[in-house]
Amino acid sequence: MTSTDPSSVRVDLDTNRVVITWRDGHESRYTGAYLRWTCPCAACRGHAPGQVEPPRFEDVRQVRLLGAGPVGSYALRFDFSDGHDSGIFSYEHLRRSCPTTRDDLDEAGEPVPGNADDAHA
Ligand SMILES: [Zn+2]
Repeated sequence: MTSTDPSSVRVDLDTNRVVITWRDGHESRYTGAYLRWTCPCAACRGHAPGQVEPPRFEDVRQVRLLGAGPVGSYALRFDFSDGHDSGIFSYEHLRRSCPTTRDDLDEAGEPVPGNADDAHA
C-alpha cells in the first residue's frame, strides 16, 4: 500500500531539493525544476486536460526554489525563482509524481528527451 502521509519533509534551498520520507519508508527527492515542471495549479494545467499548455521541462530547467511552506496538513506550497507560487502540492500529488517511480526520467530525475512531454505520470 503506497503511503501518501509523509513522516518527514526536508527543504534544502541551498541544493534546490525537497526530500520527503513517507510513512511506508519510501524516500522521494525532488529538484526545484522538477517541482516547477509538475506544478499542479490551474494556470499550469488548466481545469480540464488540454485546456492549457503545461510547462515543458526545457522551459523550467533553471528554476530554483526560493521558499516552501505547509498548506494545512495535506499539502506544500513553493515559491519558485520564476515568480510562480500558485501551486498547491498535495502529498498525494507529490507521491504520485515521485521521480523514482517514473520510468521516463534519467538518473538525475530529469525527463529523457522526447520521452516525457507530459508531466503527468
Ligand atoms: Zn503552476
